[in-house]
Amino acid sequence: MIDFRKARYIISAPSLDYRPKDKLPELVFVGRSNVGKSSLINALTGQKLAYSSKRAGKTRYLNYFLIDDAFYLVDSPGYGYTHYGSKEDDAFGKMMERYFENPALVGCVFLLDCRLEPNADDLLLLSYLQKESIPTLVVFSKADKANQSEKQKALSRPYGDERILFSQEDN
Ligand code: GDP
Repeated sequence: MIDFRKARYIISAPSLDYRPKDKLPELVFVGRSNVGKSSLINALTGQKLAYSSKRAGKTRYLNYFLIDDAFYLVDSPGYGYTHYGSKEDDAFGKMMERYFENPALVGCVFLLDCRLEPNADDLLLLSYLQKESIPTLVVFSKADKANQSEKQKALSRPYGDERILFSQEDN
């Protein structure tokens, strides 16, 4: 059994070239800025490992956390705060596209706010993951703020290989 509590921060990599060289498997967390990636990582590890109030759009690093000396959990930069198609977003897109070619990548945890319609960026990334056959768990976040019908609607969306609801309030 993997002990998620045995977790430590390793490096903030500005590109794939800076990732740890030991080739341990990687599980990447992606989603719009503010969707709850850091909160989920903190809940999983039981530690304040990821900063949950980092300034929106400012974090352009791949943050590596080593879990139980067995694999890396990778927090990716949030997207959506720069104008779609802008230079900055383009750089982000290129970095992530290269990231997804990473042979150590074993899967993706894709966060979507349970109350919101996925936007163009979400849909682009979801279809890319599907096209590349990257195993994807969709986590609908902020379930505590959603009503029953919003939760049902979220779970019925045909995204990813598996879908779950998450609320940081439960942890
Ligand atoms: P990130 O930018 O994707 O890493 O998002 P954060 O984890 O920093 O969360 C952004 C904001 O949403 C913070 O103020 C969190 O406290 C809040 N938040 C995250 N998850 C939840 C949740 O499940 N429920 C509620 N009510 N707030 C949440």
